[in-house]
Amino acid sequence: MARTYAYSADFDKELESLFKDAKLLGEGHNGIVYEVPGNKAIKIFTDKNICKSEADILYKVKKSKYFPRIYKNGEYYILREMVNGKRLDHYIQENGLSQQLIYNLYRLINEFKALKFTKLDARCRDIYVNENERVKVQAGVRNRELYEATGRKGYPFPGGGCPTVSAVGFTLGGGWGYSARLLGLGCDRLVEVELIDCNGQTIVCNKEVNEDLFWALRGCGGGNFGVVTSMTYNLPPKIDMVTLVNIDFTHIDFEENVNLLEKWQEIYKVMDKRANFKLACYNSSDRGKGVKIVGLVYGDKKLTNEILKPIKDIVSQGSYKLDYIDIFEANKIIQDSHPEFERYKSAGRFVYKDYTREEITKLLELIDERAEGATYTAITFYGLGGVIKEVKSDSTAFYHRDAQFILGFQSVWEEPRFAPVNRKWFVEKLEYIKSITDGGFINFPCEEINSQSKSYEEEYYGENSELLKLIKEK
Ligand SMILES: Cc1cc2nc3c(=O)[nH]c(=O)nc-3n(C[C@H](O)[C@H](O)[C@H](O)COP(=O)(O)OP(=O)(O)OC[C@H]3O[C@@H](n4cnc5c(N)ncnc54)[C@H](O)[C@@H]3O)c2cc1C
Repeated sequence: MARTYAYSADFDKELESLFKDAKLLGEGHNGIVYEVPGNKAIKIFTDKNICKSEADILYKVKKSKYFPRIYKNGEYYILREMVNGKRLDHYIQENGLSQQLIYNLYRLINEFKALKFTKLDARCRDIYVNENERVKVQAGVRNRELYEATGRKGYPFPGGGCPTVSAVGFTLGGGWGYSARLLGLGCDRLVEVELIDCNGQTIVCNKEVNEDLFWALRGCGGGNFGVVTSMTYNLPPKIDMVTLVNIDFTHIDFEENVNLLEKWQEIYKVMDKRANFKLACYNSSDRGKGVKIVGLVYGDKKLTNEILKPIKDIVSQGSYKLDYIDIFEANKIIQDSHPEFERYKSAGRFVYKDYTREEITKLLELIDERAEGATYTAITFYGLGGVIKEVKSDSTAFYHRDAQFILGFQSVWEEPRFAPVNRKWFVEKLEYIKSITDGGFINFPCEEINSQSKSYEEEYYGENSELLKLIKEK
């Protein structure tokens, strides 16, 4: 039924300006609510006593994550945080009552009790369920299984490329993936970890409980703080379709390869965060020398072509393939392209600067000849930036958030007798890579990672290494 209230409120200049872009959200018995810029909402009341009592409650519960933040209020209005999502009763009608929702409601009622609310049967219409669901995995669940569980329900997940890597090991080291520039590193989606410490005690940690350990587990790498038994992740909103990029510039000319890398570092600076790629300059026994670019773009082929346009004319031969497919399928294709088994030595270092033509040339010269018995060697650029960089370096143990790329280097061989010669070859070449990079990626660990001036802890964890040591001592 249409209401006939007349509203008036004592807005100051800031509110007047916000209100110019207000969007009506709805009208109830107590007043009318508008969405305003900056993820805020203004509620205007008909009764100033109700306005005051609602504002008083919001101030009292301002430390609780279950209530919207209040920014200010007047006699007849409240400016508060905008709450997105669906009304609880509508949500249940459409989606049913999941185990996770029951768990969240249980925690909510406990919070009401802790805040000393006397009326605990809150109305459904006052509770909103947002799209972000959670997924909990036991240790042992591998990337492939996690992608299957989330992807089949239409959720993307910022996991890694390799199907057999465990989700826990991947996440403990930060977790780079093709979705990371849009959805964050694997560790950025963690909300809770359960582990068993060296005394056999089960410890739960999240942002409220054992916060320091939770901080450490997001980037410290595997095996450093006990045995993780489960991890709970916050899932991003559902996304159906992505463009899978698969480019192979086979038998690339050396000069063209230098030009390509020069351009690649340029386009990454301004690249849409919906895109991320792995670019590998390879020297393979069966395919020769080339550049392979694999990536995901959370957008259509048109957007993808715009992003890749600057590099298309640089190289004169090879294949360029775009597939607009669902996210589950795209991740499956990426995973299926990994070999079942490999003998290799590798390392990952961080690129913090633009390389000159001379530096690019020297880099490519490192893989001009393979080690004896090697079937493959590559220098690979794993894209960073986007939302990875929006998180501060000391917000989690994963330190190297401001780098432009992870530079991966590897040598692969088949016959075990070639292992020593490949390792020696690799360590010699790594010296030059160390001189133009800064810090090591703990998920691509390497015994020889540290330079003369830094310990391995400083290489992996930068300025976070001291705090990690203190947490370890506790
Ligand atoms: C082919 C391949 C591709 C890869 N691609 C990517 C990628 O795209 N992005 C990326 O970020 N990384 C990638 N990695 C690296 C991978 O994420 C790390 O090597 C990771 O540590 C592997 O974890 P795991 O548990 O599978 O391996 P493991 O070798 O079993 O474990 C690695 C370390 O973690 C510890 N660990 C394992 N489980 C637990 C647990 N439950 N609790 C505590 N510690 C534990 C182990 O003790 C060990 O120290 C790749 C690795 C491979 C081999």
